[in-house]
This record gives sequence, C-alpha cells and structure tokens, in this order.
Amino acid sequence: MTASKHVDLDQFMNGLKRRNPGETEFHQAVYEVAANVFDYIADKAVYHEAQILRRIAEPDRIISFRVCWQDDNGMIRVNRGYRVQNNNSIGPYKGGLRFHPSVNQSILKFLAFEQTFKNSLTGLPMGGAKGGADFNPRGKSDNEVMRFCQSFMTELYRHVGEDIDIPAGDIGVGAREIGYLFGQWKRLTNRFTGVLTGKGREYGGSPIRTEATGYGTVYMLHDMLKQAGQDIEGKTCLVSGSGNVATYAIQKVNSLGGKVITASDSGGFVHDPEGIDEERLAYLIDLKTNRRGRIEEYAKQYGAKYYPKERPWGITADVALPCATQNEISQADARTLIANGCQAVAEGANMPTEQEGIHDFIEAKVLFAPSKAANAGGVAISGLEMSQNSARITWKEEELQKLLRDIMGDIHERCVQYGQTHDGYVDYVRGANIAGFIKVADAMVAYGVV
Ligand code: NDP
Repeated sequence: MTASKHVDLDQFMNGLKRRNPGETEFHQAVYEVAANVFDYIADKAVYHEAQILRRIAEPDRIISFRVCWQDDNGMIRVNRGYRVQNNNSIGPYKGGLRFHPSVNQSILKFLAFEQTFKNSLTGLPMGGAKGGADFNPRGKSDNEVMRFCQSFMTELYRHVGEDIDIPAGDIGVGAREIGYLFGQWKRLTNRFTGVLTGKGREYGGSPIRTEATGYGTVYMLHDMLKQAGQDIEGKTCLVSGSGNVATYAIQKVNSLGGKVITASDSGGFVHDPEGIDEERLAYLIDLKTNRRGRIEEYAKQYGAKYYPKERPWGITADVALPCATQNEISQADARTLIANGCQAVAEGANMPTEQEGIHDFIEAKVLFAPSKAANAGGVAISGLEMSQNSARITWKEEELQKLLRDIMGDIHERCVQYGQTHDGYVDYVRGANIAGFIKVADAMVAYGVV
C-alpha cells in the first residue's frame, strides 16, 4: 500500500494549492475534475498507486519567454509568451494559442489541463497543451500583429513540431495570426508541415475548422435535449460572445429552428428579441471578424437594446450557450438562469461557469454540458487537419461535417455512459471527466513511472 492511498480530495487540493500558489483558475479546473475522479477511482488501486491525477495536474513542462517587437511608432514593446505542455500520453501536445491582456500562467495551466481531457474525449490521438501571450491584438495594425507573431514564433518554433506539439488558434488568434505564425515557422525551419492547425485553406487548412467549435457545441445541446425527449426547434437561446465560437453556434441554432436573442463582447451585450437571423448574423460576422468593431454597432443597426458592461444571463430564454470566456456565469447568474426556466446550458467557451454555478445547475437538474465535452468539436477537426496534412490530402467538406457530427455524438454517448444517475438525469460533468480521464490514465499506467 502506498501513501497516496490515504490522500483524500481535500488533502490533494491543499497540496496542489501549496505547490501552485495564487493560480486560482488552475485550482478551479483541477478541482472540477478531481471531485469526480476521486470518487470514481476510490476502488481502483492501480490509479492511486501510479499517482495518476497528481501527475496529470503537474504539466510536463512550462515554457515562458520574452517577446520583443516594434510598434508602428518605432517603440520597443515587450510581452510575455508561454507554452504549457501538459500531457502527451495519448498523442503529441495539442491546444490553442491565446493573445489577450489577461493571459497568465494560471489561465494557461487551467486551459492545458482541461485540454488534456477534452482531447482524450474526442477519441483522437492528441495530448494537451495551451499557450499564448499577454498581447492584445485589438487596436493594433496588421503590421504590428505580424511583427508580434513573427517574434513570438522565433522563440516558440524550437518547442513545437508536427509530431511534438501542434498549436492552434484561441481568443485573439484567428486566421490572420495563424497565417503570420505559420509563415514565420516556414521561414525559420525551411519546412512545410502541419505544425499549426486553423490554417487558411490555401496552405493546408481543413474544411469546417472555423465552424467546428460552434457547430459542435450546438450538436451537444441537441443531443442533450434529445436524450431528455426535447428539441432545439422553437427554443429561445442566449449566446454570449460574438467571436468564432459564438457566431457559428448562432448559425447552427438557426439552422435547427431555434432563435438566438443575445450576443456580446467585452463591452456589453445586445438583446434582439427578433432573433439574430442569417442576415443579422452575416452583419455581425462582418462587424466583429472583418471590421473588428464593437457589438454596440449591431444594436444601432437593428434597433436592438444594448446593455453596456453587462452579461446576457438576466434575459429569459430556454437555453444558454456561453461562448466568450472563462467565469462569465457566476453563481448568481446561474441562479437567475434557473429561476427564469433555463433548461439547458452548453459551454462553447472554456470554463465559462464558476464552480458554484455548475453545482447549482446540476442540483436543479438543468442539462449542463461542460466545455471539455461541448466545445471539443474544434480540436477534433484540428486533429483531422493534422491527419490530412500528414497524408498531404484534403477531405471533402461533407466527409468532415459527418465526422464532426459523429465525434460529437460519441462524446455525448460517453458522457451518458459515465454520467447517468439512478433517476435518469445525466451529470455530463461527471461523465466527461471520467471518460476523459480513463484513456489518459490507462496510457500512463502502461508507460510506468516516466
Ligand atoms: P474570439 O477571440 O473569436 O472571440 C471571443 C469573444 O469573447 C469576443 O466576442 C470577445 O469580445 C469576447 N470576450 C473575450 N474576453 C472577454 C471578457 N473577458 N469578457 C467578455 N467578453 C469577452 O475567441 P473564440 O470565439 O475563438 O473563443 C471563445 C471561447 O471559446 C474561449 O473560451 C476559447 O478558449 C473557447 N474555445 C475556442 C475554440 C475555437 O475553436 N476557437 C475551441 C475551443 C474553445 P471582444 O471582441 O470585445 O474581445
């Protein structure tokens, strides 16, 4: 018998907090998984003896580096870049890059930890990582963004590779940034390989990668509702965010007969009771993606009500899709949603609901799909972009649409397998945590102590 057998959840969390002081987002993400996994492995000595959870919660390595670049006025700017390589037990490291002023080590560690379980859930051979910088692309010229990306890759390139670590986009890193990053990688290495995903279609990008996260989130919502004998058709839906995930989630809700009545950005949210239909969505995508404008302009354009500095969770609707950022649904927001009759929540963003809010949703038997399951469609198509790059082919869009649908359906099934409770309610948080854990844990056990 090993000492680890006697460690309970509180002792485990206390140890984690001692070793990672001040990293509150990381503590939150680990706790959410550990609470379910401790329960599941209670009678499974092999996982205790191999100290699996403790090892997954200690990143394989964290790379932190200076990123110097020159702005359009000739001023030297200094940012901090990171890559957190959490775990590569089931495949090369894989996870996005985030450029946002809020980026710090705690946030990237939480994201890399989550990514490990999410990638496992997809059934594809991908480990977990995340990276980024405290750089804000908003308000920067294209040339400034290019110089930043080139400087960032000048350090990152030595830590990544198509069989080592394959970064992708995330908040603040879209097609433009991926293009600049890939161009610099190619220049530095003189190689053309699938080292990044989310690339332009002209140079190795996969069909439907842009749409995949938002679409996948709505597939998860659809499957949860179906499991409970319901449908998206005719339902009103709150969406937060107006970036990549949010806009394609809106598109898929529309195509399945639902009506999205809110969208937001970091300045506030709009409430459009008429619904963000195809025409309004095209305006929104152009506004946010091409013109990099503010959501307030949408309100002016369509006579919708704009709520500065507020989130949409006080508006009454049937379902909610948080698609902006972490911790955007507080416990009070969750209680408001429940009181207003919200029946289902699928997390398009990573960890958008605070722990206490998740607890309240589950207690109220709201159907709740956590991000590691609900938004796994994006990384799944990224995994398939890697396969296409390795084979130097491009699959047809219809094939990929079907694969995305199938993968999300499989994730839903695995969540039901491990999350269904005696009264038929599915605890998707528990289901996703356990299903994601098992594959990684079994690989780690097979490797011995490494
Ligand atoms: P984008 O940069 O395209 O869009 C982010 C959106 O969220 C913008 O509308 C942005 O507003 C808003 N936002 C960002 N930070 C905040 C904040 N602190 N408060 C309020 N609103 C905020 O990012 P994505 O759509 O790609 O990502 C959104 C979420 O989905 C993130 O949690 C990301 O990790 C997650 N995700 C993304 C995947 C993908 O494929 N893109 C895959 C899996 C998860 P503004 O314009 O004002 O900045």
